[in-house]
Amino acid sequence: MSGPDFLNIIAPPEWTTDALCAQVDPDLFYPESGAPNRDAKRVCAGCDVRAECLAYALAHRERFGVWGGTTERERRRLRRPGAGQARMRAAALTAREVTR
Ligand code: SF4
Repeated sequence: MSGPDFLNIIAPPEWTTDALCAQVDPDLFYPESGAPNRDAKRVCAGCDVRAECLAYALAHRERFGVWGGTTERERRRLRRPGAGQARMRAAALTAREVTR
């Protein structure tokens, strides 16, 4: 493996430079089991890279924390066979609802 390829692997995705969560306490996104995640979802709802973040979390099967406005449980549902655009829209709506 050449140097540049290796650097591409360890470099964070470009969208992370616009991640709104970088401006708040990271613990907010990894609440204790059963603890509310509403505050993290509120941050995600206002984040410009929420779609990219959710796509990354789904592609990398991120098992912990709030990513792209979704919890672990919500991402498991999105990954189930048959989950399509309707579920993606539902997840986006859920993230918006917590800001009301
Ligand atoms: S969607 Fe949420 S978790 Fe993802 S980068 Fe934005 S604020 Fe962070």
